[in-house]
Amino acid sequence: MTSLKKQLLVFTAPSGAGKTTIVKYLLEKYNQFAFSVSATTRGKRSNEVDGKDYYFISQDEFKVNIQANAFAEWEEVYANQFYGTLKSEVERLVEEGKCVLFDIDVKGALRLKSLYRDRCHVVFVQPPSLEVLILRLKNRNTESTTTLKKRVDKASLELTFANKFDQILINDNIEDAFKEADQIAQTILEH
Ligand code: 5GP
Repeated sequence: MTSLKKQLLVFTAPSGAGKTTIVKYLLEKYNQFAFSVSATTRGKRSNEVDGKDYYFISQDEFKVNIQANAFAEWEEVYANQFYGTLKSEVERLVEEGKCVLFDIDVKGALRLKSLYRDRCHVVFVQPPSLEVLILRLKNRNTESTTTLKKRVDKASLELTFANKFDQILINDNIEDAFKEADQIAQTILEH
C-alpha cells in the first residue's frame, strides 16, 4: 500500500527488553497494524494461542519451509529452537493494506532490513542496563535456570548491535516507551 510511509515496522531487542509489550500496545491501539505471526519449533506456553502468537510447527515442517525458500528470514534463536518469518505472511498482510509489525530477534531483524530495505523501519528496544534485563527475565518466570542463562548470554552480545538499526528506543519506564512508540507509529502511518 503506497500511502504508508513504511509497510513494515520491525521491533527487535534482546529477550526481556520489553519489545513484545510495546508491539502488543501498538496492535491494540492502531488497527492499521497487523502482527506478523512467526513460525517456531519451541513449545507453546500456556498463555499462547497457535496461529495468533506463533505458528507452532515441528522441526521437520520447519525444514521443509527452509527448503521451499518460504522464509524471509529464519534463525536458530536458541539451540534447537527455530523461529522464522514466512514470506507469505508478510505478503498477505501488505496486500490487505496493513502495516506489518514484527517482534523478532536481532539477527532476524538485520536480515529483514537487508531484504526489504526502504520498505521497512527497524527499532531496537534497549533496556537501561544488562542488570535490569536480567531482573525482568527472572520476574517473568518463564525460564528455567538453563534457558535464562542462554537468554542472558545472547542478550549481552545483542546489545552491541544497537547502532545497526534505524532507531533506538530505550525502555526504562514503560509509559515513556509507549509514548515514544506512539510517535514512531504516527510517523510510519502518516499519509
Ligand atoms: P520467545 O521464545 O520469547 O517468544 O522469543 C524468543 C526470541 O525469538 C525473541 O527475541 C523473539 O523476538 C524472537 N523471534 C520471534 N519470532 C521470530 C522470527 O520469526 N524470526 C527471528 N529471527 N526471531 C524471532
